[in-house]
Amino acid sequence: MVKEYFKPTDVEEALGLLSAPGALALAGGTWALAFEGRDKPERVVDLGAALPRSIERRGEATRIGAYATFQEIIESAAAPAVVKAAAASMANRNTRNRATIGGNLGANKSCASLVPVLLALGASVESKARGKPSATMPLADWLSRPEGLVLTVIVPADAGVRAASLRASRTACDIATATAACAYRLEGGKLSGLRVAVGGFGPHAELRPDIAALFEGEALPPKADIEKAVGPLLAALADQRGSAEYKRLRGAALVADALYSAQELS
Ligand SMILES: Cc1cc2nc3c(=O)[nH]c(=O)nc-3n(C[C@H](O)[C@H](O)[C@H](O)COP(=O)(O)OP(=O)(O)OC[C@H]3O[C@@H](n4cnc5c(N)ncnc54)[C@H](O)[C@@H]3O)c2cc1C
Repeated sequence: MVKEYFKPTDVEEALGLLSAPGALALAGGTWALAFEGRDKPERVVDLGAALPRSIERRGEATRIGAYATFQEIIESAAAPAVVKAAAASMANRNTRNRATIGGNLGANKSCASLVPVLLALGASVESKARGKPSATMPLADWLSRPEGLVLTVIVPADAGVRAASLRASRTACDIATATAACAYRLEGGKLSGLRVAVGGFGPHAELRPDIAALFEGEALPPKADIEKAVGPLLAALADQRGSAEYKRLRGAALVADALYSAQELS
């Protein structure tokens, strides 16, 4: 049962309160209270007044405060269209009104809506751990060793980069069966700087340099060839959402669709 509730106005204060054993950092609560919350932490530290939530364009990058909700990202003039599309793939409006980008990274589920596109775009995060200065690092590094709180997500929007983010699910509101995102440039008709991220094929969504290496420096092959090459690299667990084979085939088709549907960032 929750016995203590805090709403600090400062990140260092929040980190101090979170240092107590069993304390829970609470953002929108759509993961923490619905799922992890079943364990009912005794101390809850509400991040709402301690974290930034503004979304702003600075030069060639968009800075998204960790407390920005999915709906705020969709409605922002500053967020890249491909990130908005990934946020909109969370079909439930009630959840989008509460769920934050920081919480999506903190939960880091395999089916996370924003993680694949942020990884594909080469996003970085500004984070803060207790007693340490804030640090900026690639998102992939923070996700592999999460420490402290994410303050801001920095999304590069380099001219000429094309990107896409797609998800497959049984129904719009269901958890994704597979997600795929990509980003690349076309140079002389060939893919350059290709990054591919997939979700649904392991405990977390992740960058897949092995998939990117198949197509880097090449002209985009026909979709059927992409699916044939990517399929053997994907392995999923069978569950109520589909067999391992179905998910493998669906994931490969999603990667092909993402490569073909990538649009220049706007
Ligand atoms: C009905 C329903 C539908 C859903 N659909 C989707 C979906 O389509 N796609 C999807 O991705 N998810 C979905 N989810 C899961 C959830 O909504 C997302 O993971 C959401 O982004 C979590 O954000 P939050 O702000 O609610 O985080 P919380 O639930 O408050 O926290 C999640 C975790 O992140 C940690 N955390 C929070 N903020 C930070 C931070 N700034 N730095 C570090 N750690 C932090 C918390 O301590 C906790 O461990 C759904 C959930 C529900 C209940």
